[in-house]
Amino acid sequence: MLEVENLHVSYGSIKALHGVSLKVPQGSIVTLIGANGAGKSTTLRALSGLVKSNSGTIRYDGDEITRLAPHKIVSRRLCHVPEGRMVFANLTVHENLVMGAYLQKDKAWIAKQTEYVFHLFPRLKERENQAAGTMSGGEQQMLAIGRALLGNPKFLMLDEPSLGIAPLLVKAIFERIVEINKEQGLTILLVEQNANLALDISSYGYVLETGSVLLEGPSADLKANPKVQEAYLGG
Ligand code: ATP
Repeated sequence: MLEVENLHVSYGSIKALHGVSLKVPQGSIVTLIGANGAGKSTTLRALSGLVKSNSGTIRYDGDEITRLAPHKIVSRRLCHVPEGRMVFANLTVHENLVMGAYLQKDKAWIAKQTEYVFHLFPRLKERENQAAGTMSGGEQQMLAIGRALLGNPKFLMLDEPSLGIAPLLVKAIFERIVEINKEQGLTILLVEQNANLALDISSYGYVLETGSVLLEGPSADLKANPKVQEAYLGG
């Protein structure tokens, strides 16, 4: 279980988060939705130690991780797939996956997990020797998720996996996210502007607005909420 309590984050004089609290139970898919600039990415960056919080606490599996450095957070098996994917453009698909496994020592596990990633995303297998930068946005997103899985995470943070991707690939990627959650028992915190999709695959959601939680509830309830429909689901 991940628990965030009253988190405040600023970038210089800009207050990005003021008092965000949320919970992500083990094994669940929880989503953060909200407009541009609401603080969704900042929340993920704070969880992975990439920005320092001014106050508030982050607990994971009972331990406080609020002030840990990013590499210490990764070593607790929390992994962040950032917005924009950030694959190594000049490396091949295979080399990107190898980079994802750089902390793993068990070669047999790495081979097995690589096969699992290729089973999830057969397109990556087809393009194993292609430079990542020459692939489509959707394929790069698959690679970013695959690379994260090679780090053997227990808790996966996905920032806008649908951004700039063709609808057909978005559907495939979201189906795989559900599969990963079920098959690998991975807890997932999903940040999305595509609220419809995110609420369809999650069990619980938080709506962020200007750095605070405006609404929260079971995803089905949020989807049925007229305020959410009007503001985030296109009426
Ligand atoms: P988006 O979907 O557009 O990324 P978001 O909900 O993820 O939106 P954040 O990126 O977390 O929002 O931004 C929250 C606030 O913090 C915004 O007002 C943004 O302008 C500001 N902000 C984000 N990153 C920085 C930064 N590096 N320096 C200064 N301000 C920032």
